[in-house]
Amino acid sequence: MSEQPGQTGRTEAPVDPDGPEDRLRRFATIWSRAVFPATAAPLTRVEFEERLLPLARLLSGALHARPFDTAPATEAGHALVAADCTDPEALSRTLGVIDAYLVLYCGTEPAARCTEQSAEESRARCARLQHALAAGYAHALRERTLAEQEAVARAALAARGAAAEALHATQARFHAVFEGAAIGIGIADLDGNVLEVNDTLTEMFGGLEHHVRSRNVSEWVHPEDTPRVWRLYDELVRGEREHFRVEKAFYRNDGTVLWTNLTLSLLRDHEGAPQYQLALMEDTTERRLLNLRLRYEATHDALTGLPNRTLFFERLEKTLSAGDDTRFGLCYLDLDGFKAINDSLGHSSGDRLLVEVADRLQSCATAPGEMVARLGGDEFVALTTGPATASGVSELASRILGALAAPIRLEGREFTVRGSIGIVEGPAAGRSAAEVLRSADITMYRAKAAGGNRFEVADPEADARAITRHGLTTSLPTALERGEFFIEYQPLVDLDDGTVHGAEALVRWAHPQHGVLGPDRFIPLAEHTGLIVPLGRWVLEQSVRQARFWQQELPEGAFGGPLRINVNLSPTQLHHPGLVADTVEVLERIGLPPGSLCLEVTESALIGADEDLLKPLRQLAEMGVDIALDDFGTGYSNLANLRRLPVSVLKLDRSFTQGMQQHPADPVDLKIVEGIVSLAHSLELAVTVEGVETGAQAEQLRKIGCDTAQGWYYARPGPPERLHTLSLADAV
Ligand code: C2E
Ligand code: CA
Ligand code: CA
Repeated sequence: MSEQPGQTGRTEAPVDPDGPEDRLRRFATIWSRAVFPATAAPLTRVEFEERLLPLARLLSGALHARPFDTAPATEAGHALVAADCTDPEALSRTLGVIDAYLVLYCGTEPAARCTEQSAEESRARCARLQHALAAGYAHALRERTLAEQEAVARAALAARGAAAEALHATQARFHAVFEGAAIGIGIADLDGNVLEVNDTLTEMFGGLEHHVRSRNVSEWVHPEDTPRVWRLYDELVRGEREHFRVEKAFYRNDGTVLWTNLTLSLLRDHEGAPQYQLALMEDTTERRLLNLRLRYEATHDALTGLPNRTLFFERLEKTLSAGDDTRFGLCYLDLDGFKAINDSLGHSSGDRLLVEVADRLQSCATAPGEMVARLGGDEFVALTTGPATASGVSELASRILGALAAPIRLEGREFTVRGSIGIVEGPAAGRSAAEVLRSADITMYRAKAAGGNRFEVADPEADARAITRHGLTTSLPTALERGEFFIEYQPLVDLDDGTVHGAEALVRWAHPQHGVLGPDRFIPLAEHTGLIVPLGRWVLEQSVRQARFWQQELPEGAFGGPLRINVNLSPTQLHHPGLVADTVEVLERIGLPPGSLCLEVTESALIGADEDLLKPLRQLAEMGVDIALDDFGTGYSNLANLRRLPVSVLKLDRSFTQGMQQHPADPVDLKIVEGIVSLAHSLELAVTVEGVETGAQAEQLRKIGCDTAQGWYYARPGPPERLHTLSLADAV
């Protein structure tokens, strides 16, 4: 290679004996040694290595590139085909070399090896590069095959012309056409008796000419023949068709299968009457095997050997389009708690566990019409088709859960793997594969939510609910920016004198499609997605602003004291490190005294809370912010525990008030509430009751000694202005 002026640095600089360039070269050498014997390229090994070097550079570059991109590997796959590495061995050897040496020779510098990119990431990248290379290779080979077929077709046409001419001329010239041909050529009469075959064709059939010559075309029926092949043949020998081209299999003399691209043409005599048939055959067996292997690799999971997502979708789509009376059943399995096992054991053990699970699943679905596939991660599917899928699919799901039940031994320990299964069953017609899978996925989550280790059957109503849930989750993050939330206030009333004492802020979502949604519909989602933190901050700020406004604008003396505001806090907010700072900042900026704010925390959020979790609440309490224990009585905390919590208010859950709705009120309920109230008072806690819907309830609660009440009897949650009228009415 001559050095050109434009070619800088890389070639001119002395090669560091252990530098990256040198290592790249070594990789290319190994690669060329492995693949060279399997190439048809008219090159020396060293020349071949020069051709591989830029491909090695592509792979090495892709191994480190940020962001990661597999395109260079695809390109390398194309280039391999362009370099005539079309033997099936060439690909598998290439993959072997990349697998064993790419990371080793083209990984990072030894010094930086551990820091820049973890070994694990390199391995993962290397595997993906191999896939991309194989895919690029397959694609290029397909393109090339198509191009070759075109060339063969053109050669066939030429040969046909020559053969026809030869027939009309002399026998000697006829044979001359046959001999040099690289494709198999045979001639038969219209009854199918083989008259002439060339050497190439004989070799394709296994080498014995008389075996081929003594045959009749009609004997070459192969089970893989489509009816079309023989229909075209009949048309041709009847003189209704000049030629046709098909892909056809034959049995060789030794019983093995020969695949060909077969072009059959009709040869006519001088008057134009059909006389002979001419077959041109190209041996495609090897290419077909390679394609089958590539297809196998593209449609099967490398780890477990199960069909992968691609193949599963193909099969499902085929089933769904099979026709009206076909039924199908699908089990969508997700392992319970697999992540924990994987994290604690490491990935290689996790992999072995998945392989074991795959084997067990496979043994559950052995009947015709059943298949098991791995969708990825710890998600598997089993598909069954047939007349009785309704009962069949639940039996299949039970079999699967049963097969998982026996513990799996890994590294001397036993693991019990359980799974949740979503089942979709029904007539195939009218559903898309994506719909079916989504429904199965949703149903699987239902099984998980119900505790796992079970199956659930899809039901359209539950699906719809889950889909809205899903829709809400996705529209939630933008809702805050778009100002779709608003707050309603529900008054808190002093049971002694009936004055409005404050209000609880209750958030709502004015959803553009679903209308106004209550907090029960979206607070859990906001908790789950983390949006609760900004949402909670927004609620706090709005409510504090509102309270400040009430304190400034409403005439003094309208209330028992300055109006206070209660704001709900979710467990996630409680864990958020900015809680104290944010709250203080809001109070100071807006100018509301801390004593006018009460934060409501549910009892369940504080169960088992350690001192770390209580610390922020304790700090807030020390500053004068009230902390209320919300929904008291629904959790399991014992009353003695209250002493160590920084709370100053107990909010009795609505369920207690409901027990008092009967006339006369349930005496046991009354006794319980009375007990709680007196204990709370002995701990210097104020008691608020929720859900007061009647005057009788209010009266009873007052007698028992409750301090504050909240409920529809006084007011439903409403806009802030409603509180003005209420408190003014009080004042009168
Ligand atoms: P909660 O804190 O227990 O709020 C009281 C719930 O009881 C409110 O439901 C209120 O509308 C309802 N309610 C009030 N009086 C009566 C009555 O007399 N009878 C009956 N049957 N119900 C009554 P809402 O507004 O649907 O709130 C549900 C829950 O959502 C609240 O329960 C609270 O835990 C949560 N929540 C509301 N707003 C927020 C917020 O801004 N942040 C957080 N983290 N949670 C909130
Ligand atoms: Ca509350
Ligand atoms: Ca409550």
